[in-house]
Order: sequence, then structure tokens, then C-alpha cells
Amino acid sequence: MSHVVVVGAGIGGLTAAYFAIKAGHSVTVLEASSRVGGAVQFQVVETSEGPLGADVGAEAYASRSRLVEELMKDLGLANRLVSPNPAGSWLYLPEIGAVPAPKLGMWGIPGDPHAAEVVAALGPEAAARAAQELDLPMDTWAKRRAAGESITVGELVADRFGPTVLERLVAPVVSGVHSADPYGIDIDTIAPGLIEKSIEYGSVAKAIAALRAAAPPGAAVKSLRGGMQKLVDALTAYVQTHGQLRLRSNVVALDARARTVHVEYGDLVQADHIVLALDAPTAHDVVSTITPFERPALLERPDYGAGVGLVMLALDSPALDAHPRGTGMLVSPSVTDVVAKAATHVTAKWGWARDVVTRLSQHRHIVRLSYGRITDPSDGSAPGYATPEDALSDIAFTDLATLFDLPEQYVLDNIVGADVARWRDAMPLTTPQNVQRIDAVRQAVEHFDWLHVTGAWFAGTGIAAITQHSSALSINRLQ
Ligand SMILES: Cc1cc2nc3c(=O)[nH]c(=O)nc-3n(C[C@H](O)[C@H](O)[C@H](O)COP(=O)(O)OP(=O)(O)OC[C@H]3O[C@@H](n4cnc5c(N)ncnc54)[C@H](O)[C@@H]3O)c2cc1C
Repeated sequence: MSHVVVVGAGIGGLTAAYFAIKAGHSVTVLEASSRVGGAVQFQVVETSEGPLGADVGAEAYASRSRLVEELMKDLGLANRLVSPNPAGSWLYLPEIGAVPAPKLGMWGIPGDPHAAEVVAALGPEAAARAAQELDLPMDTWAKRRAAGESITVGELVADRFGPTVLERLVAPVVSGVHSADPYGIDIDTIAPGLIEKSIEYGSVAKAIAALRAAAPPGAAVKSLRGGMQKLVDALTAYVQTHGQLRLRSNVVALDARARTVHVEYGDLVQADHIVLALDAPTAHDVVSTITPFERPALLERPDYGAGVGLVMLALDSPALDAHPRGTGMLVSPSVTDVVAKAATHVTAKWGWARDVVTRLSQHRHIVRLSYGRITDPSDGSAPGYATPEDALSDIAFTDLATLFDLPEQYVLDNIVGADVARWRDAMPLTTPQNVQRIDAVRQAVEHFDWLHVTGAWFAGTGIAAITQHSSALSINRLQ
């Protein structure tokens, strides 16, 4: 049995700790802040009728992951599993405004270019161009894959389906969900195996249709009644029962000879294995302190990007009872009358949330709007992570009115609570330069057989990818 020290108590650190304990190790988790969960957070808005809460970070997980499902069962959460309202989401596009998002697709890439929603979103001419994709040869892409070249989402979609599909269907999803520019993100990052399948089927759309048909029935994402915070609560209870969890323990350095972790203003913690479950810029800083180690000086610090500001609004509105925008909206980066990149109608998407709020007031709703695109300047001038709370809330009131087609004064008169959450380090910046820097940190870590990394920056964004990674770490590397 080894003593494993896990640095960071986000979902990466907590699952790494859980799997290490399961494997028989003794575990200590060190978390810099005063709360666990990192980018999984349940935030409460005060209203005159009582407090209302919702997830302001991750609100669901990709349900294709059997491992997360097993984890939920093991932690006694199976009876809390819930699926979202199948109504699906909408898009907000230049010129035409709000339209339902095509149902059959992957990251906005259509699986059926002839579908009515695709034609409605693109217009007949661009839809006809998109449909040509079904018959275009895949030769160029097969050659590029054989040569090991990186293929960005932007270049693949624009070439295969035409630029309008990229602008109207794919950019809102990729920039809204991954905070990425489609020309700055490798297709393998968000859709591993899609290129190979497309070469096999002779068409990207056909490959997507086949992959979706082969997917297990049921919702693509699931969550927990009470929010994803319930997963954090259960993992925390498990770690506290079977190991140690220390809050306000900011790790600032590592010593390779003594194999110790230095906690700021605190003690040294000795370990057989150290797992850094941090964002890559902080992992870089910690790895750079290792003595003796000749390589850190060569490491370049990965960047954070502009971050995300998220506004959670509670309002009373019979107009929203019919869920006029399905579960929410993704906003095209090309629109000029809305600043938000996405809006989730929380009480339309999750039945449990609807039950909670309607007990307080019959027509009450929670909507969360997110701000901060990857293309924003890094000086904080665009609305998002760095915008003061009142200013960001004012923008959100206007955006809510536009996106849901409500008079602005009506929104202002009916808001009953608002709160802002900020995320700087929860979304890895996926530019090729940053990907290289992150990889260099990973390689530096691999230099030491007692040092490991996990979490979104190294495993891929999202609870499913992170859980898979931290589980594999426990099986393969912690001996
Ligand atoms: C708004 C938003 C919505 C999202 N929605 C979804 C979703 O619906 N589904 C999904 O699967 N994913 C979603 N994600 C992504 C998901 O939340 C993240 O990928 C995941 O939570 C990241 O977990 P992590 O452990 O890698 O990092 P984090 O959650 O960032 O945790 C890192 C932890 O390390 C701590 N730390 C930092 N420095 C130190 C130090 N020096 N010493 C000790 N501790 C330190 C931090 O305080 C933090 O607690 C969303 C993200 C955001 C921001």
C-alpha cells in the first residue's frame, strides 16, 4: 500500500482519490480553497420566498460512460439519476434569430443534412450545399489522416459541408460548450474516431448517423436530482471516511528527493505518489519548483484564455412555462444583438429543478446565461469573467429578453434573484500552441514515476473524460 497525495479537490482530484482508496492506498487530498468540487458547484440565489439553487458549473455528465454510472451506483446515487427534458436545445442565429437545433448531429455537425431543422437554420441554398457532403470523396482527409496531420473542426466542416454549416450550426456549439474556436480545435479532441469512421463510410454525415444509431438508447447526458453537486458530496464523504481531506492547503512546491509536497504557510506532506489534479498553468508552476530537475526552465506556461462569467437568474414568468426555447440556446458568435454565448433554461431542462421552484411560486424559472468566448481579447474588455457583477447581470437581463422574445421591462419587473459565478481555469484553452505546452508539462511529469497528472486539462473536458482518466491512473500507475 502506498501513500498517495492528491493535489486539488475538483472532480479530477476527488475521483483520483476515490479510485486510489479503492485500490487499497492511503490517500490525502490537499485543496487550496475552502470548498471542494472545483467547477462542479451548486450556487444558491436568495429570493423573498426562500433560497433557490442550481449548478453553476457542470450540470450533467456524458451518459455513454459506463464508469460514471458504476461510480454513481457505488456511491449510492443510482436512485438520483435523471435525464434531461428530451425537447432539446435551440440555436440563436444571425438574421433569423431562434430556431430549434437539429436533433441528429455531433457538435452541431449534421448527421442528416436534409432534416427540416437543418434546412430552416441554413436556408435552402446552404442546405443543398451541405447535402452534397454525402457524396463528396473523403480522399484528401484520408491522406491527411495517413500522414498524421492534425485536422481542425473548422477546416473539416467548412470543406465538407460549406461555410454556412460551420458558422450557423457548428460554431455556436463548439464555442458555447468547449469555449473553442472551430479553427483552433482538433476534431480528435471533441470527436475521437470520427475521421476514421467518416473515411470508412465515405461521408462525415453518414458516419455521424451511424455512430448515433449505434449509441445506447436514452439521453446523451444525465444528471442527479439535486444537481451534480450530489456527486461531489458523495465523493467527499467517501474520501473523508476512508482517507484525509484538507481544505485551505495551497500546494506551492514539490521536492523530488524527499518526495514531499509543500503547502503554503503550512507543513510538508510526504508521499509515495503525488497526483496533481490541477489546471495546467498551476501544474506547470508546481512542476517548475521540483528540485532537482533540469527541465522546468524549458517549460512554457500554458495560458488560461479569457475565462467564463455565468449569470444565474430567477424570474416569475408564465410566458416561460411552455419552455419556448426547449432546454436552452446556443448563440452563434456572428450575432450582434446578444452577448451571451449560451443560455440554459434550467427549470425546463431538469424536472427536479422545476419541482423545487414551483413549490415556491407557480411560474418561477431559473435561467443561466454564460459569457466569455475564446475569441475575446485577454485584457478582460469583453463581457465575461472579469466583468463586475452588476454590469454582467444587466447584460444578462437584456439578453434574456432577446433570446426568449420577452419585453425587456417585463424581464426587469419579474426578476426575483440573480447571482454570478466565475470560471477562469475550468476550461482548457485548446489552441495548438497551448496544447503543445500542456503536453510538455505532461511529459515533464512522466519523467518521475511517482508524479502524475489528471483533471480536465490533461484528461479532456468533462466529468466522464476525467473519471475515465483518473481511474486508469489508479490502475496503471499507482503501484
Ligand atoms: C460553466 C461550466 C459548465 C460546465 N458544464 C459541464 C457539464 O455539463 N458536463 C461536464 O461533464 N462538464 C462540464 N464542465 C466542465 C467540468 O466542470 C470540468 O471539466 C471539471 O469540473 C474540471 O474538473 P477538474 O478537477 O479538472 O478541475 P477543477 O474543477 O478546476 O478543480 C481543480 C481544483 O484544484 C484546486 N487547486 C488549484 N490550485 C491548487 C493548488 N496549488 N493546491 C491545491 N489545490 C489547488 C482548485 O481550487 C480546484 O478545487 C463545465 C465547466 C464550466 C466552467
